[in-house]
Amino acid sequence: MERYDTIIVGAGLAGLTTAFELSERGLSVLVVEKEKVIGGRTASWEEKGMLVESGLHRHIGYYKALPSILKKVGVNINDIVQWEEKIDILIHGRQPIILGLSPVYHPTAMIKGLLGNNHAIEFQDKFSLMPFFVTGFWRYIKNPEALDQYSVREYAERYNVTENALNYMLIPLSTGIFFLPPERYSAKVFFGLFFPAMPYFYKMRVGAYLGGMTELLANPIARAIEKNGGIIKTSTCVNHLILDHERVCGVVLEDGKKFESTSVVLATNLGGAKSIIGQHFSNNPAFEHMLKLPTMPAITIQMEFSEPVLPYDRTTFGPLTALASFAEQSRSTFTHVPGRLSIILTPPEKFLDMADEAICQIIIKEAKKLGMNLASNLTDYRIVKHPEDFHSLSPHHDWMRPEQVTQINGLILAGDYTRQPFFATMEGAVISGMRAANLVLGYHDIPV
Ligand SMILES: Cc1cc2nc3c(=O)[nH]c(=O)nc-3n(C[C@H](O)[C@H](O)[C@H](O)COP(=O)(O)OP(=O)(O)OC[C@H]3O[C@@H](n4cnc5c(N)ncnc54)[C@H](O)[C@@H]3O)c2cc1C
Repeated sequence: MERYDTIIVGAGLAGLTTAFELSERGLSVLVVEKEKVIGGRTASWEEKGMLVESGLHRHIGYYKALPSILKKVGVNINDIVQWEEKIDILIHGRQPIILGLSPVYHPTAMIKGLLGNNHAIEFQDKFSLMPFFVTGFWRYIKNPEALDQYSVREYAERYNVTENALNYMLIPLSTGIFFLPPERYSAKVFFGLFFPAMPYFYKMRVGAYLGGMTELLANPIARAIEKNGGIIKTSTCVNHLILDHERVCGVVLEDGKKFESTSVVLATNLGGAKSIIGQHFSNNPAFEHMLKLPTMPAITIQMEFSEPVLPYDRTTFGPLTALASFAEQSRSTFTHVPGRLSIILTPPEKFLDMADEAICQIIIKEAKKLGMNLASNLTDYRIVKHPEDFHSLSPHHDWMRPEQVTQINGLILAGDYTRQPFFATMEGAVISGMRAANLVLGYHDIPV
């Protein structure tokens, strides 16, 4: 039987980060990934002749862990993203709201955005957001768990946020980021997502990737792992763990093949982790909450056109429609096509069991409400579904996220759903990967 120091299950950013950090310290690592391509939710691949991605992603200027791991493998974040200092919020029958994001890189746009846009959000709307944000961040510092009792809508109602401010500011900042309507989006997640970034807020801007994410993010990390002697196997699904007296010492694949190791890092999405953990530890109280933590889907549609749909490749929100967030990508990520939109849909559950053609028709209809004609120049489209990749970001669930260290010897968890400060983001996944590597090094008595 093949034997490794550590087996990492899942080649998303969390798993790849763990494997890279361990291989750098001289440990032998095996990464097993069930899909054909590595990258997990930051993957890109060809699907029936069209280049697709797991979904529209934005690199946030204040991320630290992701740029640092990329730097270690020779990638400078500034070389792989096109920075945007503004975002657009499209509104039915009115001029869009244009908001400046960056106090440092484009301060005038930020001031104009705050003082302007009065055609959609008037002074009293902006003013009504002040107590919402001030008390929200204050409560997050004092007692974040208490905030998980409220949805964003409930918290907004408590502080008399106007309907306009809710629709055109808070919906883009909640539904636009994590696909959930404000009545289902935890106020803790809302404030918590921005909170760790506050000291670095001056770095705020968003980056569109200049190519497919597997090529830009996952492949350079994978090459560095392989250079260090690590092995990555794709199309290899782990079915369950090998246990020896309550100590995890390897994995068994779907085809029955076994690999042994001193430790196993389960770096899958939540759905994958629950399925493996549930087989062995369903009666173990240590995993009770994690096994009950609900998953949440995400659905995206990626469309190609004979000409660009939007004048800029810029992050755009479509509040009060099914288009949670989207961007034209033909001048940034997918330059080989004349026009391309990547759209994240809301609410995701509505689209999960729907046929592709029906989804496309709904999106064409919804886009019309935002003044976009998607029907006339559409040449191709693909739907990408993630049925159980996310942990639920609804109220009352955050406390159920597990710690990475488990009570089972040799078993460590990694992934964006584990307890780290950046919730379900690339930054959170990389942080969890770094922490998992440190926990493994403890098993081998190697200083972290
Ligand atoms: C549409 C969309 C838009 C997003 N936008 C952003 C954004 O703008 N900014 C941002 O920071 N984040 C964004 N995210 C979130 C970000 O992609 C994730 O938080 C991050 O990629 C999670 O990484 P991970 O390694 O924890 O999990 P994953 O990437 O899900 O990796 C887990 C891996 O485990 C594999 N696996 C599961 N079960 C098994 C098994 N039994 N055997 C072997 N392998 C298995 C899976 O195939 C997968 O490759 C977005 C996600 C989506 C889907």
